[in-house]
Amino acid sequence: SSATTPIRATLFPGDGIGPEIAESVKQVFQAAEVPIEWEEHYVGDQIDPRTQSFLTWESLESVRRNGVGLKGPMATPIGKGHRSLNLTLRKELNLYANVRPCYSLPGYKTRYDNVNLITIRENTEGEYSGLEHQVVRGVVESLKIITRQASLRVAEYAFHYAKTHGRERVSAIHKANIMQKTDGLFLKCCREVAEKYPEITYEEVVIDNCCMMLVKNPALFDVLVMPNLYGDIISDLCAGLIGGLGLTPSCNIGEGGIALAEAVHGSAPDIAGKNMANPTALLLSSVSMLRHLKLHDKADRIQDAILNTIAEGKFRTADLGGTSTTTDFTKAICDHL
Ligand code: NAD
Repeated sequence: SSATTPIRATLFPGDGIGPEIAESVKQVFQAAEVPIEWEEHYVGDQIDPRTQSFLTWESLESVRRNGVGLKGPMATPIGKGHRSLNLTLRKELNLYANVRPCYSLPGYKTRYDNVNLITIRENTEGEYSGLEHQVVRGVVESLKIITRQASLRVAEYAFHYAKTHGRERVSAIHKANIMQKTDGLFLKCCREVAEKYPEITYEEVVIDNCCMMLVKNPALFDVLVMPNLYGDIISDLCAGLIGGLGLTPSCNIGEGGIALAEAVHGSAPDIAGKNMANPTALLLSSVSMLRHLKLHDKADRIQDAILNTIAEGKFRTADLGGTSTTTDFTKAICDHL
């Protein structure tokens, strides 16, 4: 009965440290006997006219077909005539929610040891709609778009996430006192969805107050849902609460249930190719991919092995104050498995 058919998932190793940390994921999955078969796709060096970017049509088709994938960091190429890789993925796969779990890692000391929250960011509109123009010389305008459809969709995702992950509270983060129409509509949609989830406590918190509360006592929050720009800022603030970029995973959720997990960090050109990168963020992203596939035992085992390795403190990469290489740290995780 253990001879299950492998599940196919797309893997973009990405640029810079991407291939090194993707290798770490492959090794850990092998050690944990995860029934996944990777379909690897690389970022090309030529524009594919079908996507107008360095990502091939086949690579996007692979994610659509598999419904799940893991993405390493992609460097934004300098130059014109093509779309940013991350923007292409977001638009083509309609990745409407970015989910970032953020919890204190046991044994790795930061200012806080009680962080356990999830930020859910609307990923398709708001101030990031790309609608900016000059009205007259010296006056420019940027359009903030909030739609009922996108707001309901992300709110629904947040409440469903809370319910299925044993969370008790959803906080909608906003500035509706000033942005009455846009954030007002976002809140209205959150309220509508909240009514369908009476078991989840719903609250609304103004963004400035939210920042103050987060740095004072992050334990005040559980699941946070918010429009695009606020999500961009708040999720980085939250990453800072637990120890930085080498540690923080995320997952993009798209139309039709697509899940494309990725680390929050970039390609780290300063340490690329030096066997120094911390693979934890990508590994924890791969864990969220496994949870999406309901492979909870594998996810738990891998997560425990990562956390135990870090907590033990014998093998840590340089960003966490240690001297281990990426490969030593990976081997230590595999040994814990
Ligand atoms: P970065 O995240 O790559 O690096 C910032 C700093 O954090 C560097 O000092 C780096 O060494 C360190 N760092 C990052 N990840 C680490 C890890 N896993 N282990 C140890 N140290 C780590 O940010 P940047 O330098 O601003 O961006 C570099 C490139 O990455 C740019 O081309 C940018 O466009 C791209 N980028 C891509 C994504 C993405 O694909 N989602 C996100 C951010 C940046």
